[in-house]
Order: sequence, then C-alpha cells, then structure tokens
Amino acid sequence: MLEGLNAFKDVLATAGRVLISTHVNPDGDAVGSLLGLRRVLRAYGVAVTAVLADPVPVKYRFLADEPVPGPRDDELARSTTTDPFDLAVFIDASELERVGEVAERFAQWCRPGAPLVNIDHHIGNTGFGDIVIVDPGRASSGELVLEVADVLGVTIDPVTARQLYAAVLTDTGRFQFSNTNEASLCAAGRLVRAGADPQTIAERIYFERPAAFYRLLGHLFEHMTLQAEGRICVFAVSREETAAFFRDGHYDSEGIVDFTVQVEGVEIGAFLRQTGERIFRASLRSRGEINVRAIAETFGGGGHEKAAGCTLEGEMPEVRERLIAAMTRSLE
Ligand code: 5GP
Ligand code: MN
Repeated sequence: MLEGLNAFKDVLATAGRVLISTHVNPDGDAVGSLLGLRRVLRAYGVAVTAVLADPVPVKYRFLADEPVPGPRDDELARSTTTDPFDLAVFIDASELERVGEVAERFAQWCRPGAPLVNIDHHIGNTGFGDIVIVDPGRASSGELVLEVADVLGVTIDPVTARQLYAAVLTDTGRFQFSNTNEASLCAAGRLVRAGADPQTIAERIYFERPAAFYRLLGHLFEHMTLQAEGRICVFAVSREETAAFFRDGHYDSEGIVDFTVQVEGVEIGAFLRQTGERIFRASLRSRGEINVRAIAETFGGGGHEKAAGCTLEGEMPEVRERLIAAMTRSLE
C-alpha cells in the first residue's frame, strides 16, 4: 500500500495531465471518491480530468462541484489529440473492464507508455495496472483518497470532505455493514472535522428518495416469495415494471437489495433487474457466513463477500431460476 502510494506520488511529479475514472453504474463510493480524488490532485497542482462511462446518479449530483464528462465528450476528444494524458487512475474498480467504455478507450487518450494506477478496496481486485494501491481491509475507496491526500500533503477542504464522507457513508451502509471498522469511523470523524456535515449528507442521499422507490419496494415485498426454506430472498423487476414505476426515467433502486437480507431467517438475497432485452443485473447480499462474491464470480461478476454483483443473459424466468439455483448451491 505505502509502496504504491509513494510510487503514485513519484509519477505525479512528472505528469502534466492526469485522467481519472471509476466503475460503471457508479455508486456513492465511486462518485464520492472520484470527485474527492479530482479535488485532491488539483490541490496538489496537477491538471486532472475525471471521466465517467455512466452519468452521475441524480441523488449524488449534489456532490459534484463540477460536471463529469462522458467518454464521448467533444472537448475530451479535442484536448487528447493535441495533449494526451500522461497518467490514468482508476478508482473503486476491481477489474479494468469495470470502467466500461473508459477502459476500452483510455489508451487512445494517453501518450504511449503512460502508467495506469489502480486504487481500490475490493478483495477480488485483479491487480491490473502499473501502480497498485489496493487495501481490502478498507470499507471504501473514499478512505484511500484520504491516504493519497496524506502522502501528497494536501489538506482536505469542506467540499472534498463532503464528497469523501458520502463515499464512506454509502459503502459502509451508513456505518452498519460488517465492513464498518475503526478505520472507516476514524476517516469519517476526520472528514467531519474537515467540514463534512453528516446530517445534510444523509438527508440528501437517504431521505429525499422518489416516491417511486417506495412504491417499487412495497410492490416487491407484497409479492415476495422466499426460497430454500426461507434462507433466500430474490426480488426481480422487468424493464416494463421499472418504466411503470419510474415514469420520469430517473431510475433509483440503490439499496433495494439490502432489504432482502433484512427479512428474518434470510441469509442471502438478490435484486435482479432487467437492463436490456436479454440483459439482467444482479446485486447480491449476504448476512452471515455465505460468500456472495463466489456466486457472482460464477456469472463473471465480483465484489465483496457480503455484497457482490454480476450480469446475466437470457429470459426473465430462466435467469431468475439460474440465479436462485446458484444461490441455493452456495447454501450447501
Ligand atoms: P451493488 O450490488 O451494490 O451494485 O454491488 C455490490 C458490490 O459488488 C460492489 O462492491 C460492486 O463494486 C461489486 N460489483 C457489482 N457488480 C459487479 C460486477 O459486475 N463485477 C464485479 N467485479 N464487481 C461487481
Ligand atoms: Mn467501493
């Protein structure tokens, strides 16, 4: 870790322009740590551009001190032809492919031989890149941005503190998931001291959710069926259902999966949602001993032991059965 941080500091010394990005479907940690890293590197005097394959979700837009362009941004294309990036940094991505379209295109935006830095906290991180700063003992990538700031001697200002606090808050499930530890709470304390306001941040992320979110949740609980003698709970939504609930197109189902393992007796849960004609995203959660990362990996996904995800292809009933079968096998 320290070795990686020092190597990062060394390459920053000669890097004129730096590209940073994070994973597709960015969650609170991805958004918060990306924005926080952008500010920390700028405060250090580096010219940094953040790019995101998917847009910042509505509920995290309050964190953005400046917009984050997508990979097809005109200005990005223009600037990189005359002045390519000297360094790329991907944060909160367990594998290169998780960065989506940015992973496919970043090499053409960088000068040949530009180093790639991998900053992450997933236990299954593939170790991609030239400089690896991975600590699976940390609950969030936001905490790793604090480490970067410390190595660079950058002071955290209130705007950065808010971004990083949101990262720690969301990835620890409001300091309630099993990854919550002394380090995450100390980081949060530091961020509050630096100007983050816990109440406003929690309010913006958790207490201003669209009515459609609660309607969908009610619908899912109403039709809930448990599997494996009540040890498995799977919620599934088709594209049509999603569209019917979120009529304005601002889809927000983050955290729905967490409810599956709040049912008495349930050990593992999943939220399956159709995202394309034959494409389904599965979010998995575990409460107890079962490792859901192993289940996600059987479908080419990954994550943590208690929170993981993957993509499945097929028709709804069959995909759902396939997921339930893999979950059931993991109970044996
Ligand atoms: P969520 O269910 O909240 O979207 O994701 C839970 C965890 O699993 C997160 O740490 C996320 O980074 C990881 N994850 C979700 N989907 C995938 C995937 O398709 N591949 C990999 N490697 N990790 C995933
Ligand atoms: Mn994370």
